[in-house]
Amino acid sequence: MTIKSKAVMDTIRQQMENAIPRQADLNNRYLVASDFDKTLSFNDSGLVLSEMVGIRNFEDKVAGLAQTNLVQPGAELAYLLRHDPEFRAVRREHLVEAGKGVRLKHQVSLLAEILSEELAGARFDFYVISAGPAVVVRSALEGIVPADHILGTEFDFDTTGEICAVRRVPAGYGKVIVLQELESRLKVSPDRTIYVGDGSSDLYVMQHVNSRAGHTIAVSESKSIGRIAQRTVLSDNATSVLVPILEDVLQWDAASIRELFARYGLAMRDWDKVRTDWLTFHPTTATSETALVS
Ligand SMILES: [Mg+2]
Repeated sequence: MTIKSKAVMDTIRQQMENAIPRQADLNNRYLVASDFDKTLSFNDSGLVLSEMVGIRNFEDKVAGLAQTNLVQPGAELAYLLRHDPEFRAVRREHLVEAGKGVRLKHQVSLLAEILSEELAGARFDFYVISAGPAVVVRSALEGIVPADHILGTEFDFDTTGEICAVRRVPAGYGKVIVLQELESRLKVSPDRTIYVGDGSSDLYVMQHVNSRAGHTIAVSESKSIGRIAQRTVLSDNATSVLVPILEDVLQWDAASIRELFARYGLAMRDWDKVRTDWLTFHPTTATSETALVS
């Protein structure tokens, strides 16, 4: 074999060796998709925006709209921004400013940092899928999550700066569509998808993820979501969602999880595991004795 052909063979061998770890990487790659409002934040960005522009009855407007089922759950703000005269004054700069006014849960940046690192051979792609305006969410998470990892409601603005069209709303079933596109773009199989959310806008997507052997995590005590999510984690610290990911997906034990948090300077003060049964009763029309006899 000549020196030249040996060099070619070495190159081919190297390329083949490189191809094998790439395949292994794909098998250990997970998509972590998280809702934004009340999942990564304490407050609702729609409420922050409304208060900023002087609209006092935002929650009543949302409740009224939700009751009509005119829009997908979570898409109420998008509808109001496009169609409610009171929101006509909203411009892009208001959306940016509202994002800065949103109070994020503690250590969202640490959550993003930990998920960007390889954990016991597993790699994570962290994306935010929100029914809220993408401009608001990108502004709130600036410097924490890259803009192209945030998928939210997109608007068109006319020459005066007014919102003139709604391009896409990732709310309700719309979140399923966005998630499927992400899975196919990132080549992540559905059983390696992890979805984190808090509310009714997340119900469809959680049912979808569960049905395809993925993992679902609720971060609120809402009964509707708790019934569907595989795990519920309540904390004011955003990194708490790592607990079910490490326990259920990577099969880590409690000691290893505590060790990981300690490595990032976090000591767990309380870690209570509580199984909650929600029960309500109402009196029956017949007494128990009557019911037994009849
Ligand atoms: Mg939410």
